[in-house]
Amino acid sequence: ETGCWFYMSLITEGLASCSTFRTSSEAALSPRTKLISGNSVNPDTIFANNEMSLRDIEIYGFDYDYTLAFYSRHLHTLIFNIARDILITKHRYPEGLRKYEYIPDFAVRGLHYDVQKALLMKIDAFHYIQLGTVYRGLHPVPDEEVIAMYEGCHIPLEIMSDFYGKSSHGLSMKQFMDIFSLPEMTLLSCVNDFFMKHNIDYEPVHLYKDVKEAIRDVHVKGIMYRAVEADIEKYICYGEQSHAVLKKLSALGKKMFLITNSPFDFVNRGMSYIVGEDWRDLFDVVIVQADKPGFFNDRRKPFRRVTDKGALLWDRIHRLDKGQIYKQGNLYEFLRLTGWRGSKVLYFGDHIYSDLADLTLKHGWRTGAIIPELRKEIKIMNTEEYVQMMTWLQALSGLIEQMYTETRHRRPQTKNFFNAQFGSLFRTYHNPTYFSRRLSRFADIYMASISCLLNYDLQHTFFPRRTPLQHESPFWPEHTDEKCECFSGQKIEHLCYI
Ligand SMILES: [Mg+2]
Repeated sequence: ETGCWFYMSLITEGLASCSTFRTSSEAALSPRTKLISGNSVNPDTIFANNEMSLRDIEIYGFDYDYTLAFYSRHLHTLIFNIARDILITKHRYPEGLRKYEYIPDFAVRGLHYDVQKALLMKIDAFHYIQLGTVYRGLHPVPDEEVIAMYEGCHIPLEIMSDFYGKSSHGLSMKQFMDIFSLPEMTLLSCVNDFFMKHNIDYEPVHLYKDVKEAIRDVHVKGIMYRAVEADIEKYICYGEQSHAVLKKLSALGKKMFLITNSPFDFVNRGMSYIVGEDWRDLFDVVIVQADKPGFFNDRRKPFRRVTDKGALLWDRIHRLDKGQIYKQGNLYEFLRLTGWRGSKVLYFGDHIYSDLADLTLKHGWRTGAIIPELRKEIKIMNTEEYVQMMTWLQALSGLIEQMYTETRHRRPQTKNFFNAQFGSLFRTYHNPTYFSRRLSRFADIYMASISCLLNYDLQHTFFPRRTPLQHESPFWPEHTDEKCECFSGQKIEHLCYI
């Protein structure tokens, strides 16, 4: 009944305010809608895409960067500055680029970049561009121009990025899935901006490759590693929480392992800071420079033992021993040597493709995605302002066709809550983003940080929320004859949180 009353009052008040075309949410909504704010989501929740019981998990595996080690914003500024300077010194880009600073809130993860056209954009789960989120340099491209360029908004499969988000084999789209790629997207946009501002004729394909190489140099040449190691407190945060998770699992007798693409010195310095010098005692196996996602696919690369001093040994590996460090190798060999197969293994990583996709599709380990952006987005979704806006928007879109113009006016506002240019990581208005779709395909569970595990008993079973399929939830008025009855109980909650 409450739901029905709520719904009716919303219609009445919505229509009343609508008839005078008032646009502020304050004017349009009654104080009764504040009821909804009681339904806020805890940012430390672990969300399930698939049913999974922690009781069945005997072995826990971890990626390192952005899974056990969470980095502060200073790291993105560092990567941006070094890569920008490499472009100028090594690739002879104009000195004027030095004026550009890193813009922390410019890009979001999961965006696509059209390498030929030099456009950064958000694409939904059905390969449609979200209009209003196509950027050339630092400025949005008008919708009409986007529609003309792509003959609509759909990106055909032939030019879409490959399975791992790459723009290989002549594909013109590249998807940026790495958290480390935020400075890369921003640098690309800044350089494009500079060239356009100064009317310089340039080849976008060369620019993309040069920026990619400059960013890669920051990692591969060890510049970033050295900077982080030199000032670890500045760059690593929430170390004590990761430590608490590892202690919790260890106390319960769980096996643990680490598979990272980063080199040993870097991981050793970070883990010593997070856990202490004896961090290796917590792990049964430690693999560095694993070369994921190749690690999961390429059977040919053998493991190699690394000494504490970083020297590589030449002996054949017959066992993966606790306390030792191994480099590279491959998952097939890892499974053979450890016997850790199937759904008793849960692996956590922040990269949906490099860390999780192959494990889910080929090897049957359970997977946990670490999505740091989740905490910020949930906090935004919990604000009264956002809840009111969404409630109003949903009421408008579902109830009153004549309100179409008003809806269009408010949609961009809801996007701006999350990120002024691209909106939420997870949604393009009604649809999930391309990122979201692949997250739900490749991760059993997902959470903002590894520390969310501290809130759960290790016997806990995660169930995905049973969200209605389109044909199961007749809650739009045009889908039902009994317009009021379908809005009782839970369904009104669903209406508010879409
Ligand atoms: Mg990582």
